Amino acid sequence: DRAGQALLHIDGVSVRFGGIVALDGVSFDVQRGQICGLIGPNGAGKSTLFNCLSRLYECNSGSIHFDGHPLSTMPRHRMAGIGIGRTFQNLALFRTMTVRENALVGCHSQHHAGFLRNAFRLPGAARIEAQAQERAQTLIDFLGLGSVAERTVADLPFGTQKRVELARALAAQPQLLLLDEPAAGLNHEELESLGALIRDIRDRLQVTVLLVEHHMGLVMGVSDKVVALNFGKKIAEGTPAQVRAHPEVIRAYLGA
Ligand code: ADP
Ligand code: MG
Repeated sequence: DRAGQALLHIDGVSVRFGGIVALDGVSFDVQRGQICGLIGPNGAGKSTLFNCLSRLYECNSGSIHFDGHPLSTMPRHRMAGIGIGRTFQNLALFRTMTVRENALVGCHSQHHAGFLRNAFRLPGAARIEAQAQERAQTLIDFLGLGSVAERTVADLPFGTQKRVELARALAAQPQLLLLDEPAAGLNHEELESLGALIRDIRDRLQVTVLLVEHHMGLVMGVSDKVVALNFGKKIAEGTPAQVRAHPEVIRAYLGA
């Protein structure tokens, strides 16, 4: 029974690197269909939390449940398959491949079975390939990448490359999308459309979003709820208005 159950349940998560406590007993939930912002100064632990959610890092203590299942039991290479997709603070794309090819990689990362069937020419391969092609095209259209679909990623402007990374992440049909600083390096125009795009990802693709972002206008404008970290600890959680006005958040950002 999934009624009333959070899609993501983070409970007392701590991560240490030697003497550094990157995350210190962090707990919060993300509900299905929510856009949740995650803010905090540099070094607060935001990327570390994303890396735990993608199983790149192990938690030293605490637990994370996704869709009711403990993440610690999931193999790390299967994260796309269980429904968690992500983009990276630094782009992670196949730069010599085209936009369409990158989207197709995302389609196939959803189920390894697809790769195996193709490799051994098993029945169903043609149908799976046709579905992947169709899904890639849908996302290329959704992200406004139609005019550059056959172009090599390395030749495209940075803002366009960031949309290709979104296409690749969304192609695996995640239930939860982790966005690590999607606004970084975007020009004013691209920034304006990013907020609407994140809402569209939630509303039209029914994907829950956890958003790490330094651009306060964007994160406060688009999020249903915001969680603030500082030095690995959660210092505030609430509506954008509540978090923006929280004394600890103001102090963290003013460095006082
Ligand atoms: P944020 O994304 O909020 O800027 P990070 O999660 O990247 O913060 O970093 C939190 C803290 O953990 C920092 O002090 C950082 O130096 C440290 N840290 C992150 N990853 C590693 C790592 N792989 N090895 C050692 N220290 C790390
Ligand atoms: Mg970071």
